[in-house]
Amino acid sequence: RAKADGSGCLRFFAPESDSRMQQRRALESDLRRAWAARDFQLFFQPIVEMKTRRVSCLEALLRWHHPERGWVSPETFIPLAEEMGLIVPIGEWVLTEACAAAARWPGSLRVAVNLSPVQLAHIGLAEAIAAALRRTGLAANRLELEITETVMMKETPATLATLERLKGIGLRIAMDDFGAGYSSLRNLQRFPFDKVKIDRAFTAGLGTSQQSAAIVRAVTGMCQSLGMVSTAEGVETETQLAALAREGCSEVQGYLFSKPVPAAQVGALLARLDGLKVG
Ligand code: C2E
Ligand code: MG
Ligand code: MG
Ligand code: MG
Repeated sequence: RAKADGSGCLRFFAPESDSRMQQRRALESDLRRAWAARDFQLFFQPIVEMKTRRVSCLEALLRWHHPERGWVSPETFIPLAEEMGLIVPIGEWVLTEACAAAARWPGSLRVAVNLSPVQLAHIGLAEAIAAALRRTGLAANRLELEITETVMMKETPATLATLERLKGIGLRIAMDDFGAGYSSLRNLQRFPFDKVKIDRAFTAGLGTSQQSAAIVRAVTGMCQSLGMVSTAEGVETETQLAALAREGCSEVQGYLFSKPVPAAQVGALLARLDGLKVG
């Protein structure tokens, strides 16, 4: 914001924004170094099928532990990686690591990988995915891609062609964070989604807000009519779980079942959850 500093000149940058810029530069160079060292981890969070109350899929979530700052949120470093042109190689690493992990799980389990819009627009995506499957031996129908709707804003015929090609080899495609941001029903018609993940803001309102319940009911009903799976994100309480069961939601994910865990803990997690009948 421009402000007068008494010298008769306008300062366009307050000192805070200078230091914020410096912080950002520092984080960028740390991120570059972390990537060079492959200093990332993938965590996995289970997704539970409502009907059977068993884990059907695990979502891969990228983790970066910074030597001084501790855990940096992907909401912070993914946009940086996108701007720095690092998201394509990092995303390929995520795909390969996720497929390699899933290849060691029981064959009934799928893995879901988040895709940046930058990756989706990238010409080499389908080939990178095919390579990750080939290298790890994971069957294509055990890999699911999660795409947020911002992607659709940049829709090109190439995006649609890429999604169709990936579906053609057997992958599933999920719309992530449905209802947050620029949700458009037209996108559900235009793109070949298998699944809609209902944003956790709606789950959070269940039990307290009639509106949230009505919206969840409408979305799950629509998914059912369109032959899509509906997954509720951010399920934290038994009350929310019961409401989601009532509203006909097909899958649930959230801290009620488990926080995301390192790959090495997935076995123990599955033993705990699949022995357990929640609700
Ligand atoms: P997302 O794909 O919507 O992932 C769900 C987020 O909700 C995760 O945050 C997860 O830890 C969190 N979560 C799960 N259950 C609960 C719950 O019950 N309560 C609450 N409050 N939160 C819950 P996380 O891991 O911090 O990731 C944030 C976002 O960063 C993801 O949102 C995704 O958009 C992005 N992201 C994460 N990993 C990757 C990646 O490998 N590639 C790309 N492109 N994006 C990623
Ligand atoms: Mg996701
Ligand atoms: Mg989400
Ligand atoms: Mg999200």
